[in-house]
Amino acid sequence: MIITTNPYTLKEIKQYSFLTNDELNLQLNSAQKSYKEWKVIPLKDKELLGLKLKELMLTRKEELAHLISNEMGKPITQSLAEVEKTSTLIDYFTHNTSNFLKNQTLDDYTYVSYHSTGAVFGIMPWNFPLWQVFRFAFPNIMAGNICLLKHAPNVTGCAVAIQQLFIDAGYPKQVFTNLIIDIPQVEQIIKHPIVQGVCLTGSTKAGSSVAALAGKYLKKSVLELGGTDASILLEDADFDTALTSAFESRTANSGQVCIAAKRIFVPKNKLAYAIDFFKQKIADLKHGNPLDSNTQIGPISKAEFLPVLQNQVEETIKNGAELIVGGKINEPFYQTTLLVVNKENPMLKEEIFGPVICIIPYENIDNLIDDVNNSDYGLGTAIWTKNIEKAKTLAKKIEVGYVSINFKVTSDPKFPFGGIKKSGYGKELGEHGLKTFLNAKTNTVA
Ligand code: NDP
Repeated sequence: MIITTNPYTLKEIKQYSFLTNDELNLQLNSAQKSYKEWKVIPLKDKELLGLKLKELMLTRKEELAHLISNEMGKPITQSLAEVEKTSTLIDYFTHNTSNFLKNQTLDDYTYVSYHSTGAVFGIMPWNFPLWQVFRFAFPNIMAGNICLLKHAPNVTGCAVAIQQLFIDAGYPKQVFTNLIIDIPQVEQIIKHPIVQGVCLTGSTKAGSSVAALAGKYLKKSVLELGGTDASILLEDADFDTALTSAFESRTANSGQVCIAAKRIFVPKNKLAYAIDFFKQKIADLKHGNPLDSNTQIGPISKAEFLPVLQNQVEETIKNGAELIVGGKINEPFYQTTLLVVNKENPMLKEEIFGPVICIIPYENIDNLIDDVNNSDYGLGTAIWTKNIEKAKTLAKKIEVGYVSINFKVTSDPKFPFGGIKKSGYGKELGEHGLKTFLNAKTNTVA
């Protein structure tokens, strides 16, 4: 049984029962039939459905945004932005899939054609309950696969609403299926023959378990896990722009973002400036009711994360960090916290999933890239400088899936998204992501 709770009011929202194993099997078998029908529907018809889906999502924008804010505490302006951004993803793949699926000629006799393979099973987290689901599901659906979802329990209402969007937009039955299941039932899904791929976004622990199951049943997997992204401010950076971007990146969604700027490298001679800048920004931040459009920071999405955050901040301080602002639980919030952290602090290797800003002063850039790469994770890095050529040279040496110069690390339907090292493997979005779970078939005509 799942009970969803509003993390701000702490009031129960709704109860949901898990599917029994027999019910789950029925759903998987019927999804198998749906796949056979969906894969042969002409792309033009899939495009028409995509347009309807986008239109419906925008019609339900307010309703969906309220659901997100109520279930996981995201400030309403950011929930509305999530719905709008998700609609751009639908638009992008509706208009570009036909181009991505064109045959590729290799020589006079040989070409590659792209084919759907079956169902892709997504195990998704609560921090972007709409965006992350569509990120794995919609490109696959456009390309002829069908999708199964196990969402994070605290956003089950969002999962139900997503399935309803597909139904109401006119998609055939079970092109998209939400499965309300418990963790032990994950294996039953992965081993079913209709499932040809598994995507997980979440913690490294969950990623490792799911990758092991995918390996056991020889199913391809994509893992989008955590990060300790760096934001590097070089001496000649536009400091106000760079610090504002790092601040927004670190405090958006109350700090619960995989690609947030979790390590902000600042030249030592600019440390005092950066501290004062962030102190002012924190003083101006409005914590409050997620449904209030003035709120910029909401509650931490799951109450059990509050002591985890507190422990991580205390450990960072025990290891030599200086606490400038915050550092305490203020239920249901975590105070926006500012720390100055020495680059050797072992806590810099942990993903801190809350509004905790870590400034790391550096003396010269000789070892800077080694320090940036001194992380088990490898999701993204932002570099701030006026010297673009120098930034590009540094970018080549940084061990991550995405480097942005003078811009925050972000996700975009056009860009392949995904990390390396413990941030996971494989890509979602862009042409790369669309093709992950397709069969690239070689055709030779002698
Ligand atoms: P989890 O990784 O536990 O949850 C993400 C999803 O994975 C949920 O649907 C969860 O379901 C599922 N899951 C968890 N364990 C398994 C498993 N063994 N087999 C199959 N599915 C599984 O994240 P949490 O919500 O517990 O957050 C913990 C930490 O993970 C955060 O503090 C943060 O550091 C990181 N995280 C990173 C995210 C990112 O975007 N990179 C997103 C969310 C979390 P269930 O809840 O039912 O266990």
